[in-house]
Amino acid sequence: MEMTAHLHKYSLDEEQEKKIILREYRSLLRALKSKLKPASKKMIRAAFKMAAEAHRTMRRKSGEPYILHPLAVSKICAEEIGLGVRSTICALLHDTVEDTDITLEDVKREFGEEIAKLVGGLTKISNVIDVNASKQAENFKKILLTLTDDPRVILIKLADRLHNMRTLDFMKKENQLKIASEAIYIYAPLANRMGLYNLKTEMEDLAMKYLEPEAFKEIVRKLNDTKRERTKYINEFIKPIKEQLEKTDLDFEIYGRPKHIHSIWKKMKKKGVSFEEVYDLFAIRIILNSAPEKEKEDCWKVYSLITDQYSPSTERLRDWLSNSKSNGYEALHTTVMGPQGKWVEVQIRTKRMNDIAEKGLAAHWKYKSDGTENAREENRFENWFQQIRDVIANHDTDSVDFLHDFKTSFLSEEIYVYTPKGDVKMLPVGSTALDFAFAIHSAVGTKTIGAKLNNKLVPLSHPLRSGDQLEIITSNKQKPSEDWLNFVVTSKARGRIRDALKEEKRKISEDGKYSVQKKLEGIGAVFQSNNIDELVNFYKQSSPLDLYYQVAVKNIDLKELKSFKIQGDRIEAPKPVKIKESINEPIPHTFSKKDSELIIFGESSDKIVYNLANCCKPIPGDAVFGFVTTGKGLTIHRTNCPNAAKLMANFSHRVVKTKWAKNKEISFLSGLKIVGLDDVGVVHKITNLISGEMKINMAAITIEAKDGLFEGDIKIFVNDKEELDTLTLRLKELEGIESVERYVTELAPN
Ligand code: MN
Repeated sequence: MEMTAHLHKYSLDEEQEKKIILREYRSLLRALKSKLKPASKKMIRAAFKMAAEAHRTMRRKSGEPYILHPLAVSKICAEEIGLGVRSTICALLHDTVEDTDITLEDVKREFGEEIAKLVGGLTKISNVIDVNASKQAENFKKILLTLTDDPRVILIKLADRLHNMRTLDFMKKENQLKIASEAIYIYAPLANRMGLYNLKTEMEDLAMKYLEPEAFKEIVRKLNDTKRERTKYINEFIKPIKEQLEKTDLDFEIYGRPKHIHSIWKKMKKKGVSFEEVYDLFAIRIILNSAPEKEKEDCWKVYSLITDQYSPSTERLRDWLSNSKSNGYEALHTTVMGPQGKWVEVQIRTKRMNDIAEKGLAAHWKYKSDGTENAREENRFENWFQQIRDVIANHDTDSVDFLHDFKTSFLSEEIYVYTPKGDVKMLPVGSTALDFAFAIHSAVGTKTIGAKLNNKLVPLSHPLRSGDQLEIITSNKQKPSEDWLNFVVTSKARGRIRDALKEEKRKISEDGKYSVQKKLEGIGAVFQSNNIDELVNFYKQSSPLDLYYQVAVKNIDLKELKSFKIQGDRIEAPKPVKIKESINEPIPHTFSKKDSELIIFGESSDKIVYNLANCCKPIPGDAVFGFVTTGKGLTIHRTNCPNAAKLMANFSHRVVKTKWAKNKEISFLSGLKIVGLDDVGVVHKITNLISGEMKINMAAITIEAKDGLFEGDIKIFVNDKEELDTLTLRLKELEGIESVERYVTELAPN
């Protein structure tokens, strides 16, 4: 725990300070007690002496002796993260190499290679957040490299950060904001991913205190105001469960705990509700002391006992017993209807699971050495590290992208998706069918044309949910396209798609290179680097490769070459001419205006880069036209699209006739607006027709009733216009339905 002395500027004499330092040192030894053998006690003492001596003249911003900081960090490592003696030694020394005369050589001489390496890792990690985004990303990459080298480095770093945040009051305002932002941006998600739940939530709460001081104070106040009432309710809720539990032979603990300030606030923002409307301000936790082989059985026994008492919400059962979260979290969560019609979350776990929930990675090591840990848990982290190492090794795009990719791929919550054979893949939340395809194998990903989700066809961009079972459909003619990057979230998919696009561009450029050579020779010049450079500059390209590519896709026709001067075998450009704006961005090669009639979809058209316009969301069967856009290939609009007239009038040269090929393999998201008489059975009637009778896959349905009428929004996946028309007709035939209208979700800005 923090000393209250932190809150006041120091005005103590040397003797008193010495006493405080010794007291903290002894309390560190107590925290390590069970792990202390005589030899290790000697090492800790040596590290403490070395650090205390090195920091002797230094003070923290609060005015207190600096050594209290490494002591506090060590204690967090020992007590809250559960690290052992060697890590504690490193924590004691963590600021010495950076801030004092002590060198890594000194550390190595005194404590050996392993500890010197860890301290070195800690020294290398400087601030993550930097005004310069790419430098920030570089720093972060460095952190990840040390992390995967030895995870203890990051655990000690997290302890260091936590202590700095606990003592943030003494920092300057701008430093407070910087450190708090770093915590929210990277350290808290990292702590979460390492399974350090308590550390994560404390960091979030502390960060919020500085980043959103008003909201923070308000929630603290309201939590205090409602405390009595809440405690009373919790006791009322617990009483009958406790009575039932006491009749069993289970060894248990049961209590209610308030949710964290930051998570309450996040919920208020996400749902747009007030503090009073957040229903789960607290959760009930039941911790069992079970024998290893009875853990699962006991948890389910308790579940059954609770749901005999209170009725559960079927949608809110979370079984992390059978499949733990990727950070190792195991538990059974259920939400039940408590007294006074209030929903209450109940978390059931064993003591071992609770340790892991609180101490994450380090607890895994502990159980491993006790011999009760299974190989799966260790593999989970090892796999995670390996994936990170792969991504770092294969990453050649710029660092800012990397940071973003990393956050979405490795630090977000995860979902489980199954292959048809039942193999499970773990993916970050927000992953799509295409991410899943790449998770199976890169060679599968690049050839994916669609997917079957629980036996229904879905597009590549279909977002996945935990428990989905997915079959990937591939075609040898498929190739990754630029727009794929818009709907993948995993680093792996993103990286492989970029590689494939680059490779494709390189291949296409070969043709252009040949044309450039012919044209140069045609005017009596030589194909050599100074002449190429002259052309690259003249056409404002950034490299010969870009020039060849633009020539290959006919954005540059080299006809200006005629006006070049030739001197010997060298060419010289005339004064530069203005290039039409539209060719600065590449128009995909696969489109050529000669094709007056394009067939979209189907094998013959795999080469065409297209996308469906957001302003009118066409589906096969609609009357459509194609519009050539710079950079994104062909966009397909409906002819009655609100933007159509304008596009055709102003850019007729970029409009191409287009029609659909027959295709039943891919489904398209479309929307229907239904208005009718409000009636209890209406949702059932509609969903029964759509999913039951017509077997159409529904993406979303919202029904709003008002004054005896209801208005429903339905999003469905259809194969073509015919299917949509049939559905519209059938819906209109239902009793009480007034109108059914196809609708377009959003209008594109003009
Ligand atoms: Mn430090």
